[in-house]
Amino acid sequence: MINSISVLGSTGSIGTQTLDVARNLNIKVEALTGNTNIDLLESQAREFLPKMVAVKDEKIANILKERLLDVNIEVIGGIEGLKRAATLECVDVVVVSIVGIAGLIPTLEAIKSKKNIALANKETLVTAGSIVMEKAIEMGVNVIPIDSEHSAILQCLMGNNIKDVSKIILTASGGPFREKTMEELNNVSLKEALKHPNWNMGSKITIDSATLMNKGLEVIEAKWLFGLSQSQIDVLVHPQSIVHSMVEYKDGCVMAQMGSPDMRIPIQFALTYPERKGNDFSKLNLLKSGSLTFEIPDTKRFPCLRLAYQALEEGGTMPVVLNAANEEAVSLFMREKIKFIQIPNIIEEAMGMHTLIDKPCLEDIINVDIWAREFVKKSIN
Ligand code: NDP
Ligand code: MG
Repeated sequence: MINSISVLGSTGSIGTQTLDVARNLNIKVEALTGNTNIDLLESQAREFLPKMVAVKDEKIANILKERLLDVNIEVIGGIEGLKRAATLECVDVVVVSIVGIAGLIPTLEAIKSKKNIALANKETLVTAGSIVMEKAIEMGVNVIPIDSEHSAILQCLMGNNIKDVSKIILTASGGPFREKTMEELNNVSLKEALKHPNWNMGSKITIDSATLMNKGLEVIEAKWLFGLSQSQIDVLVHPQSIVHSMVEYKDGCVMAQMGSPDMRIPIQFALTYPERKGNDFSKLNLLKSGSLTFEIPDTKRFPCLRLAYQALEEGGTMPVVLNAANEEAVSLFMREKIKFIQIPNIIEEAMGMHTLIDKPCLEDIINVDIWAREFVKKSIN
C-alpha cells in the first residue's frame, strides 16, 4: 500500500476524484498541480497541506503564492513546477491526470525518477507509447492505468498469462449521439455534445467520447500498456457502461470486469494495486441495471475510430498527428468555430499531409505535434 502521491492535474475531473480516494484511504498528498483553476487549487492546498503546488502559468503561480503566504507550501510556476511535482523524493506514486499531450513530459520525468505511475492521461501513450513503456521497463516502474477500460483489462489479466490472450474487447458507451443519423449529426450543438449519458468528465474527453475518438485513443493506449497487436484489440458499443472491458483467452473463456460507472473505483485500484480496499462508493446492482447490450461501432457515422486504427497501423509519428489534430479540432469545436462533423475531416486531412517518421525520438514527437497543430490552424483560417 502506498503512502504518498503527487496529483498532476488535481483540479480536473480525475484529479478531484483522486483526492476523494486519497481522503478515504488516508494517503498523503505531497504535490498538487493545476492550470487555470486557482480557487480550487488554493482550497485543495489548504485541505491537503502538500509540500508544493505547481501552476503552469507564472502569473497565476505568483497570485497563488501571495494567497498561500500563511501556510508553509512552496508554489512553483511553469514547466519547472510540473517537473518538480513529478519527481518529489517523498512520493511513491505520481497520478497523471493532466489532459492532452501536456502530460507527456511530466510522466517521463516521473519515470526517470523511478516513480510508479497511475496514468489517466491517455494522450501520453498515444503519442509516445514506445518511449514511455521502454523507459518504464528500464527504470523498473509500473504504469498502472486509471482509464476504466484498461483498468478492467488489467484486472481480467491478473492470474493469467498474457500469451494466452486471443484478444481484448474494449467497451464504449457510444456517447450522446449513438442513435443519431448522419443528417442529424450535421446539426448537433456543442451543448448536446457535452452531455455524456453515463460519465461526468472533463470537456475534452467528453467531446472525444461523442466522436468515438476516445475509444480510438484507448485502442492505441491498450496496445502499449499490454503489448498487444492491433488485430487483438476489438471495440464493442455497450451503452450501459457496466461491463468496462473484456479479455478473451485462447481456450474460449472470456473474462469481463463489471462495476458502477464511477471513476473513483479504477482510480482507487490504481493506487492500491494489486491489493483492494473497502470504500462506500455505489455498488453495482445487476437487478437494477436492466439489460446489458452490445453492438458494433459504426465507423461511417463516427470515422474517428477508423482513423485511430489507421494511425496505429501506420505507426511511427502518425498517432502523434492523430492526437494533435484531434486536440486542435476539439478546441475549435468547443469555441464553436467548426461543426461537430468537421472534426474527423480535419484529422484525416492532417494525417494525409504528414510525412511519417518511423522510429521517432522525443524531439521528433514534439516537432510533429507542433506541425500538426499549425496545419489544423492554417486549414481553418
Ligand atoms: P479535465 O479537463 O477535467 O482536467 C484536466 C486537468 O489538467 C486540470 O487539472 C487542468 O487544470 C490541467 N491542465 C489542463 N491543461 C494543462 C496544461 N497545458 N498543463 C498543465 N495542466 C493542464 O480532464 P479530465 O480529468 O477529464 O481528464 C484528464 C485525463 O484523464 C485526460 O487525458 C482524459 O482523457 C483522461 N481520462 C479521463 C476520464 C474521466 O472520467 N474524466 C476517464 C479516463 C481517462 P485547470 O483545471 O486548473 O485548468
Ligand atoms: Mg475510458
